[in-house]
Amino acid sequence: MSLTFDEARALHGEVHVLDLHADTAKLMDKLGYDLALRHDRPMPTRANLFGHVDLPRLREGGVAGQFFSFWTAPYPERGCARSVADQLDALDAAMAKHPSELAWTRTGAEVRAAKAAGQIAALGGIEGGQALEGEIEAVEAFARRGVRYLGLLHFSANAIGRPAKGRGADATAGLTGFGRDVVRECERCGVIVDLAHINRRGFFDALALATLPAMVSHTGVLGVHQHWRNIDDEQLRAVADNGGCVGVIFARRFLGSASIEAVVDHLLHIIDVAGDDVPALGSDFDGFVVPPVGLEDVAALPNLTVALSRRGVPPRVLEKILGGNVLRVLDAVPAWGSLAA
Ligand SMILES: [Zn+2]
Repeated sequence: MSLTFDEARALHGEVHVLDLHADTAKLMDKLGYDLALRHDRPMPTRANLFGHVDLPRLREGGVAGQFFSFWTAPYPERGCARSVADQLDALDAAMAKHPSELAWTRTGAEVRAAKAAGQIAALGGIEGGQALEGEIEAVEAFARRGVRYLGLLHFSANAIGRPAKGRGADATAGLTGFGRDVVRECERCGVIVDLAHINRRGFFDALALATLPAMVSHTGVLGVHQHWRNIDDEQLRAVADNGGCVGVIFARRFLGSASIEAVVDHLLHIIDVAGDDVPALGSDFDGFVVPPVGLEDVAALPNLTVALSRRGVPPRVLEKILGGNVLRVLDAVPAWGSLAA
């Protein structure tokens, strides 16, 4: 049963659509990007690298919740925590200005409540463990601000481990002792461990330690496209065993194609290999990636639901891909302070 665009958009209204990764907060902090304003899509002749997400277009796309991912330049390491705080502050300012539009959320219950109140749910994650600046206490400090995931690595080696590629990459090295402590501390503080960008050895080290579901917030899969950034079938099965989820990135170079069908291919491969409890959305919008044709911005998201339905994905599985699997992980990893509430 294939859906029309309007039917797909109506489905988004009924379920909870959640995206695991957009870099919009950096634009808000550094460029004064106004999340509440509708921004035009870039002209087709210009590279569509950012400006993909704002409140009007989140609504248009039927998105219930957006994870804002806070990334930092890794050198000097001092200043990374400040940069994350600045991005959190930029989001806080947007929420203070538009309290009926945007709500800070950490739990599945809070996401559901925000949607019921007509608000877009904002969630926060960190991209790159250099944000801890080598201090284990920083995990709790970020958790207290409501940060919900920590991407252990980004594009360079840090005190936690080694990246899949970039400065300090070393396929033979796994998590450091500090990195192991960070995984345990994340679980204690209700911060979900994000395994995007980490090398394969560190990936399995982290999952071996994990007692709670982890995630890969934004990635492609090697089973569809050979790229150093993507993860293999064994990694997908390990996430399934862990109870976690994997967000598929909307970036042409990692998908291996400019077609929206490539996003479908990556999602269906995850289902084939690891089951339908694993796939999720991890757009990487506003992350200087070029999205496929038909997914130019977050408002276009129903096109993906249409494409999935055309390939035979039933509504029950659409709901899981669009956000159900992320909600399950949020519910399974209690947020800091949520148990006392
Ligand atoms: Zn990334």
